[in-house]
Amino acid sequence: MDTERLYRENAYTAQFTAKVVRQEKTREGFEVVLDKTAFYPTGGGQPCDTGWLDGIPVIDVEEREGTVVHLLKAPLESDAVTGRIDWERRFDHMQQHAGQHVLSACFDKIAGAGTVGFHLGSQFVYIDLDSIDLTREQITQAEQLANKTVFESLPIKTYTVQPAELNSLPLRKQPTVEEDIRIVEIDGFDYSPCGGTHPSHTGCIGLIKIRRWEKQKDCTRIEFVCGGRALEDYGIKNESLNRVCAMLSVRDFEAADAVERILSENKALAKAAEAMREELCKFEAEKLVRNAPLEKGLRLIKLSYHNRPLEELRLLVSGITSEKGCIALLATTGDKNQVMAGRSEDLSIDLRKPFNEVMSQIGGRGGGSAKLVQGGLGDAESAARALDMLYSAVLNEL
Ligand SMILES: [Zn+2]
Repeated sequence: MDTERLYRENAYTAQFTAKVVRQEKTREGFEVVLDKTAFYPTGGGQPCDTGWLDGIPVIDVEEREGTVVHLLKAPLESDAVTGRIDWERRFDHMQQHAGQHVLSACFDKIAGAGTVGFHLGSQFVYIDLDSIDLTREQITQAEQLANKTVFESLPIKTYTVQPAELNSLPLRKQPTVEEDIRIVEIDGFDYSPCGGTHPSHTGCIGLIKIRRWEKQKDCTRIEFVCGGRALEDYGIKNESLNRVCAMLSVRDFEAADAVERILSENKALAKAAEAMREELCKFEAEKLVRNAPLEKGLRLIKLSYHNRPLEELRLLVSGITSEKGCIALLATTGDKNQVMAGRSEDLSIDLRKPFNEVMSQIGGRGGGSAKLVQGGLGDAESAARALDMLYSAVLNEL
């Protein structure tokens, strides 16, 4: 038996009474069929209503061959029940769904782009248009026309027609059912076959705002929000932008330029800081070489640092070994535990031999060339030990 759909006659019916036709326990809960219902079942891109039957939560509603099946958390006690739908959720769906009709009609009128997909989720609402050539200007025009339609608050009418009458209507898309075709007409502006719920006038949709769009393989996806969702979205953006403006001491229309300026200044500063770091490491290396005692006729420099960037260790080794007759043995401990060793071009010692000996004894990993080696250790203590052992091993080789 087909369930009588109260939402088709009047989408504003939020409360109703009905007779229970069937009740059945399933794995998910209790399935209930009524003689009539205001609960909209999932379909046509619109999610189902939720609400209560005699105070028991209705958590899902679906249609099975003309019958509306309500899924309840607990069984009903009575054969005559009072139903109440979650009106806040339903009205949100009505705003988004009717907004989709208006927006789809506008893209059709402005760019000849047809709607091939519609998604109404709890977070995102989007339509897919069968065009990949849309311009920014066309998208702006469609949004403007959509909101003009809202501001004019056109009546939204629904009626049923038979297939023979279809030719007399300028339908935007073809129906998917073959008889009793329900038409949703936005007063002479748009005619669509649709079984969803819509408000009485386009004014009830509220603002229609396109949030973003992206070109996909064979369509353009337009993400948008209507009414209450648009207000919420505006609120979030306004608060976020106000915070940015307060931090930068600029007006909202200057924020993007200000951020761009800061990013480019930041890039220049990072470059300048890098150049200074190189310069400083060079001076530091020169000082280390000057103060290093001579051992077996050369300068052996051994130093350990805490949390010094590897890049600086590399710069120090390179600075030290740019002088003749120097060997640098450096370590850093902390977040990273590393040892690094290098020697001047004029020396002949192959650092890999002492380095590999030490690393295999302590259990570190690494490698390098005859004149530059680097390795990582498990903790600070092993790094310190590795440095000491490397010093002795290098001395042995000289
Ligand atoms: Zn629809």
